[in-house]
Amino acid sequence: MKNYIPKNDLLKNRTILVTGAGAGIGKAVAIAYAKYGAQVILLGRTADKLQAVCHQIQAAGYPAATPVVFDLNSNCYADYVAVATQIENNFYPLYGLVHNAGLLGERKSVGEYSPEVWAEVMQVNVNAQFLLTRALLPLLRKNENGSVIFTSSNVGIQGRANWGAYCVSKFATEGLAQLLADEEKQLSSLRINTINPGRVRTAMRAQAYPDEDPMSLVSPQEVVLTYLYLMDGDNSGITGQRINAQN
Ligand code: NAP
Repeated sequence: MKNYIPKNDLLKNRTILVTGAGAGIGKAVAIAYAKYGAQVILLGRTADKLQAVCHQIQAAGYPAATPVVFDLNSNCYADYVAVATQIENNFYPLYGLVHNAGLLGERKSVGEYSPEVWAEVMQVNVNAQFLLTRALLPLLRKNENGSVIFTSSNVGIQGRANWGAYCVSKFATEGLAQLLADEEKQLSSLRINTINPGRVRTAMRAQAYPDEDPMSLVSPQEVVLTYLYLMDGDNSGITGQRINAQN
């Protein structure tokens, strides 16, 4: 993976949906996919941010991206099915899905944690991933070697004080990815993997570590190679893996 060099037309004619594509890591990943030829669907809750990424992609001369304004705090399955229908009717077969959107929630102990914030973090970081995956699986399975990427964290494998629902949501994300990878081995050629981005200079990181020097962190652009690697159809045997983007 360290010496991986993506081919220029790596994602030509591939449709890929990236959640949380309006900012941070999701924005960088979406732009990188477009650069390598993908038709990217940018899903997020803030229309202005998605439009700005679309314009950036257009200005660079990459294939046009499509914004889908959608709040993952919704637990209404019909809303997710509507997104799937929109994709099925308007795009090439859906090749890839990146579950990137996430909420940090509170940095408090379990004893002090707001139940409302806990529910929202679990909805956006876990339940929405299930609902979106459930709705999109029939489309993703139609491709040879399609790819689903989940986003975890260091606190997704080792619990740490005061990380609250975020920590628990990342454990659940790891579990969902493992479960799905094991199931899809029997059912399709779909690859399911998890990326731990490591410490990256984004709004979420600044919220979690307000006293940290942001310039001590890598930029979102510096972690996109792993996302390209796992979207590469030549890596058909890679599934059920957890990859650290900064190793
Ligand atoms: P970020 O800059 O805060 O971006 C998070 C994205 O998720 C934003 O685009 C945000 O949209 C979107 N989002 C949040 N709630 C949403 C909702 N209800 N519906 C739709 N979209 C929603 O954070 P980031 O650092 O890039 O994080 C991306 C992923 O990497 C997350 O899963 C995070 O847990 C993971 N991660 C990050 C780090 C790090 O150091 N940065 C480390 C480990 C893991 P708005 O901008 O419109 O709010």
